Amino acid sequence: MISLAADFGGTRIKLGLVKDGNVVVQSVIPAESDRHLSERLEAVATGFERLGEQAGLGIAQCDGVGFSYPSIIDRRNARIMDHFGKFGDASAIDLRDWSEQRLHLPLAIDNDARMALIGEWRYGAGRGTDNCVIITLGTGIGVSAVMEGQVLRGVHGQAGILGGHTTLRTGGGACVCGNVGCAELLASTSVIAQLAREHPQFASSALATLPAIDYAAIFQLAASGDDCAMALRDRSLETWSALAVNLIHFFDPELVILGGGIMGSAEEILSFVRDYVSRHAHTPWGRVKVVGSELGDRAALLACEWLVHEDVAKVLK
Ligand SMILES: [Zn+2]
Repeated sequence: MISLAADFGGTRIKLGLVKDGNVVVQSVIPAESDRHLSERLEAVATGFERLGEQAGLGIAQCDGVGFSYPSIIDRRNARIMDHFGKFGDASAIDLRDWSEQRLHLPLAIDNDARMALIGEWRYGAGRGTDNCVIITLGTGIGVSAVMEGQVLRGVHGQAGILGGHTTLRTGGGACVCGNVGCAELLASTSVIAQLAREHPQFASSALATLPAIDYAAIFQLAASGDDCAMALRDRSLETWSALAVNLIHFFDPELVILGGGIMGSAEEILSFVRDYVSRHAHTPWGRVKVVGSELGDRAALLACEWLVHEDVAKVLK
């Protein structure tokens, strides 16, 4: 089984050629998500052709194409349902038709957090369990769940993946999703610089001297005793932990996996979330394990092969 894989992120698109559970070759192209997806798809196809050459394979030898994409996905029709201002033409594109025309290959697609979980569940931190959830901490907050050995999808493909848009503060700020007080508005890379600037101690914080504020800076300055950074760090840790408890109460997993770009500060985040979960999750049967992702960026690429197998290869047989 050989698949072409594309993992669409906010700033980068990761491409891979995956064979039997291994990423054989991979590359990265800029997302340029302010442009049209129809244009970027050509760069994806060219990238795939280059990977094929690197691996000594023709595209025709591949079984299919898998996409991991940050949106609600109509998987059956290979349609992107939401675009949140990125790739404005995305929902108008028939991706299956594009793949068949351009690459002469069938295509499968699903949500990016779901793909991260599928990768970890089949090949990484979630191996051996039938009940696990993931929280990916990055530009936004991605969530997904596997329950009783099944990837949770729901009628419209949105079951489990809107965890970043669960309400953690009633009466909170308005979110791009239409809800108010979403988890993602309280602690994610997309809002942390603004939250820092709004903090009463910002002016006296070393954060005010930085050209850009991200979580690496927050954790680093918090460790050196910067009051503003400590307050932002602690509030973020509490937000992610409260979300983990909510997911445990919703989905009854035995394992919570934490992944995403912010997990560069993994041990600090993991130990806080573990402690919070052990104190506040209602699990009379025992304790839910909280672990970091094992595969990082490779999870979604590996999941592309799994999805091609599930959605395309099985049907073709
Ligand atoms: Zn929201």
